[in-house]
Amino acid sequence: MKIYSGKSVLEGIALGKLYLLRKQECLMYPLYAADAQKENMRLKEASETVKAELEQLYRLALLQTQQPQAEIFPALKLVLDDEAYLSCIQRKIQKGISAEAAVHETGNELSEQFAALQDSYFAARAADIQDVSQRLLRALTGNAVQAVELTEPVILVADDLTPGETLHLDKSKILAFVTKKGAVNSHTSILARALNIPALVGTDFLWEELRDGMTAAVDGTEGQLIVSPDEQTLSEMEQKRQALWQEQESVKELVGKENITSDGRKIEVLANIGSLKELENALRFDAGGIGLFRTEFLYMEREAYPAEQVQFEIYREVLGRMNGKKVVIRTLDIGSDKRASYFELPEEENPAMGYRAIRICLDREGMFKTQLRAIYRASVYGNAAILFPMITSEEEIIKIRQITEAVKQELDMQNIPYAKVELGIMIETPAAALISDILAQKVDFFSIGTNDLTQYTLAVDRLNPQLEKYYDARHPAVLRMIRMTVENGHKAGISVGICGELAADLKLTQTFMEMGVDSLSVSPLYVLKLRRSIRSM
Ligand code: PEP
Ligand code: MG
Repeated sequence: MKIYSGKSVLEGIALGKLYLLRKQECLMYPLYAADAQKENMRLKEASETVKAELEQLYRLALLQTQQPQAEIFPALKLVLDDEAYLSCIQRKIQKGISAEAAVHETGNELSEQFAALQDSYFAARAADIQDVSQRLLRALTGNAVQAVELTEPVILVADDLTPGETLHLDKSKILAFVTKKGAVNSHTSILARALNIPALVGTDFLWEELRDGMTAAVDGTEGQLIVSPDEQTLSEMEQKRQALWQEQESVKELVGKENITSDGRKIEVLANIGSLKELENALRFDAGGIGLFRTEFLYMEREAYPAEQVQFEIYREVLGRMNGKKVVIRTLDIGSDKRASYFELPEEENPAMGYRAIRICLDREGMFKTQLRAIYRASVYGNAAILFPMITSEEEIIKIRQITEAVKQELDMQNIPYAKVELGIMIETPAAALISDILAQKVDFFSIGTNDLTQYTLAVDRLNPQLEKYYDARHPAVLRMIRMTVENGHKAGISVGICGELAADLKLTQTFMEMGVDSLSVSPLYVLKLRRSIRSM
């Protein structure tokens, strides 16, 4: 048994086998692609490349082995010409899926169908399909790397994971994340929390001591990775897991109840989401609404800006499923650790303080308008509000308002209906907090982003694990800015919520309520925990 320490991102317990993810194995590709014709062309080219590769391998095999062994390669070539295989991929491409994702999904689906027939002939065909699909994927992605193929739930171990890479992993097969690098406040950590996946970052394991398939436990309460646990540890972990599960279940009795203190003070408890998957958790844990929908993830899982219709359908679904409850949609907050290659963002010395979020949106007006049009069009399906990130000045709000007005005029001209939508800003820079009295005159609500507010106020990069001891979101300077923002917001008659991770800090709930904060928006898993804490005040 060997125990390694890490910093816990979520207090859960996971038991399972290790899967070591070496970066060169991680295949990055977009999941969606708008231009089906282009994707079909790429598929055709990749297929030609693989055919040539198989022919070459066949000739080589004939020189080095016997004829029967060499026959595998012409058999693989047959898969590439197989009508059922190809049409399955093409149908997916036609639905807007990228060639890579279509090949990957088709390979899995068909090989699973064949394998299920439990016949040795079909088992071999299942293996052929997987083999060909892998070759096609390598050809499509420039031969660079292998796909991560998770066949069973695992504890995934990696050096580091960017939010983009995390997005591309099949989360239903991940029991826990363990990384060597990484910071508790990064977006990857936030993502793990939102998906309720235990995770450790900054873990002190040594690669040479780990093997794929080793039994291990991740203890999120203690921040430990325990490899090859002995019998006693295993049963302790099992008990801990049961206890945590029971605790999670016990808060479920609070579903449908109010967030009210014993002396009758109320506060809204909302959920932060970044995808439809996380929306499920928000509904399961009875969030009073969505306080922060981080839309950048919709951009990061694609190879080009998501089209207006694609975005419209997603926003409509979130609004519809929240059934009239408030949904605060934050416009694109890309940049820093949240990246997508097609944005072609420059390399920067200080990306967190660089070209990101609203700064990019105000430069790329067409892209910005597309998102705003999609939100306005969806607004008739529920109770939508729009939130703008990284604001530092009044001028930015003036520009934003000009653009939203132009979008509404365009919709009017096209007779496209939209509802009244509140416009709010993130208070996540010290500048915004300090001039919150002025900004409050210009918007309908404030949402305090304590993650960035902490990093900018304390001059501590939230992604730098070395600086974690300085990253103190409870720092008096941060709390003063929160208080100031709430007071200024209320003086102007607008509501003020907190949507950074600090909103879930139960030690501060009382303070936030005393300050008069109107809403706390937290990772879905914390909604009921927070409700319990408020009700016991
Ligand atoms: C924040 O900065 O507090 C916030 C909620 O936004 P993000 O974590 O996405 O930067
Ligand atoms: Mg932020």
